[in-house]
Amino acid sequence: MRVTFMAGKRMRTLRAVGALGAIGALSAIGITACSSSDIETPQSQPQVANGTKATLALLETTDIHTNLLSYDYYKLAEDKSLGLERTATLIAAARKEFPNTMLLDDGDTIQGTALADYQAQVAPIDCKTTLGVYKVMNLLKYDAGTIGNHEFNYGLPFLAQATGSAFDVPNMSPVASQPVCAGPTFPLVLSNVLGAKSQQPIFKPYAILERTLTATTPDGKTVSAPVKIGVIGFTPPAIMAWDKRWLDGNVYTQGLVESASKYVPEMKAKGAQIIVAMSHGGLDNSTYSPSMENGSYYLSKVPGIDAMLIGHSHQVFPDKNSTVTQFNLPGVDKVKGTVNGVPTVMANFWGKHLGVIKLALNYTNGTWMVDRNSSTAEARSIQNADNSYVAVDPAISQASAAEHSATINYVKTPIGSTDFRMTTYFADVGDVSAIEIVNQAQAAYVQDYVSANLPQYAGIPVLSVSAPFKSGFGGGNDFTDVAQGNVAINNAADLYLYPNTIYAVKVTGADLKAWLETAAKRFNKIDPANTAAQTLVSTYPGYNFDMITSKDFSYEIDVTQAVDSRIRNLKYQGAAISDTQSFIVATNNYRASGGGNFPGLDGSKTIYASPDASRDVLIAYIKKVQTIKAASNGSDRSWRFTKVATAGQVTFKAAPNLVALAQTNGITNVTQLQADDGTGKGLAVYSVNLNQ
Ligand code: MN
Ligand code: MG
Repeated sequence: MRVTFMAGKRMRTLRAVGALGAIGALSAIGITACSSSDIETPQSQPQVANGTKATLALLETTDIHTNLLSYDYYKLAEDKSLGLERTATLIAAARKEFPNTMLLDDGDTIQGTALADYQAQVAPIDCKTTLGVYKVMNLLKYDAGTIGNHEFNYGLPFLAQATGSAFDVPNMSPVASQPVCAGPTFPLVLSNVLGAKSQQPIFKPYAILERTLTATTPDGKTVSAPVKIGVIGFTPPAIMAWDKRWLDGNVYTQGLVESASKYVPEMKAKGAQIIVAMSHGGLDNSTYSPSMENGSYYLSKVPGIDAMLIGHSHQVFPDKNSTVTQFNLPGVDKVKGTVNGVPTVMANFWGKHLGVIKLALNYTNGTWMVDRNSSTAEARSIQNADNSYVAVDPAISQASAAEHSATINYVKTPIGSTDFRMTTYFADVGDVSAIEIVNQAQAAYVQDYVSANLPQYAGIPVLSVSAPFKSGFGGGNDFTDVAQGNVAINNAADLYLYPNTIYAVKVTGADLKAWLETAAKRFNKIDPANTAAQTLVSTYPGYNFDMITSKDFSYEIDVTQAVDSRIRNLKYQGAAISDTQSFIVATNNYRASGGGNFPGLDGSKTIYASPDASRDVLIAYIKKVQTIKAASNGSDRSWRFTKVATAGQVTFKAAPNLVALAQTNGITNVTQLQADDGTGKGLAVYSVNLNQ
């Protein structure tokens, strides 16, 4: 089956995809977003009797981040806990289970692994080559997808190429002269990112997918019945800060509510009977703002939205046991999977889960209506109840074999060596073995730039902050771990996970203290008198646990104090830092532009927004150093916990059986309590003695 739709001024033909049963001669498939004239209206539609019922299963993947295979390119090893090749098995099972399914992707798709970087930056694909992740998604016959924030990481020209799009934006050639490249054979929709001049969405804002349902009439007969499903996409408006270097002057964003309020009625007017919102963002019930990062809570209140697929925060919803704040808001039912009554799912990240919303449809008064009370939502894990994992779909590794082996060759390229093991297992308790080299590379790079180009800032101390990006959130394998010996690109990628760029900000001593106070949210408040065990590490992400690692700086974190009152004895070269003292801090585009909401870091303090990737700066630094040494590159702890005797144990989690490693790296106050924490994630429970 072929589908045509308008893309700009050019007509484009796509292979139709979709798993809604066999599409009979009665219903041509039309995919449209441009105008009603683009809908290929079926010549004759069967009459559907009022009272006819059908179940439509919406299958969601989100935040796949190009994890096609169950493979960790930083460790060069299998990791069964992730990968679309296993989600594919859940997809196939759901397609067998339900007569009517649609497979939808919620974004953060093209970035996140070394394979993604390889295809975008190291050996960029040409126009006729389909990006690996879209090749696999084409194979899996997705029905539609939306665009996450990370889709913008490689810039607009690459995004246009990879998605087979043309963008009407100031810094790209006119749409008519842009090539139409290979891309997904399913529609990508995004309603809230608009061209700066065109004032039109750069992607199709929505699509109306015509499908044939297997349905049951009131008298019990099985029939085929047509349905028009509108899918609309949203991305976090915060992309304007996160990828400012690519987006500023080219595009702007609209709020989710504003975009939905414009397009949902338009979709209805064009015949959409069911509206599915694919929103790459979580839930936040603080006062609505068009620039809010996680706007899906308010999106759910826009009339006409029948189901929401959400993402971005890498969580599971529904989950009756969830302690995540966003799933414990008024109006959010974390058991049933509804947000203000709208059936909603979030399928975790990296292919770990498949979201399934079973929409109960009733044909009423000549159209399909969703029966919310009879609809259900669930997130299905690729991990079985016995902690084993579902099998892989072998078609995925077959389809991505060439990309996979090219990526492995790329990441094995040696660039230097290290005389110690560089890890983040104990970064939460002071180990800087995997962080100092990053800070050294960033600080040296910024110092060189300031010396060469910014004479007005000469003499201001340059320091750097970085964080343990991999700190166990995904389990025992989700830590940085670079073995002693040769260091290759995969190790540099392990040391620096994200495709960020280097930014430098100029701050005061007061700003610096506030920065470190925010980072110290990483810890729960510890009550020294409590005789029960207390968990040291909070849900605050490791990648926001910015720390200084320098001989010139020292500070304490007092975890017995409330958030924002924890940083003590902040000193530079042995002297207390005054509130008005100036510092230049090397960091990344994410942090400098407002990522993580650090006080005052809203882009206004940036003095240098480098186009150079943080990871490339690190690779260049390692090439220059050649031999990384523990004494000079991995042991300058600037911070310690304020000493305190606690009546009970203070615990944290890391991969098991690593006390000896901690000791080697100078962390002598930890003990392993349990080699297995019981979560099935490969984590052990350790205690830390805060009085040592
Ligand atoms: Mn993501
Ligand atoms: Mg995201």
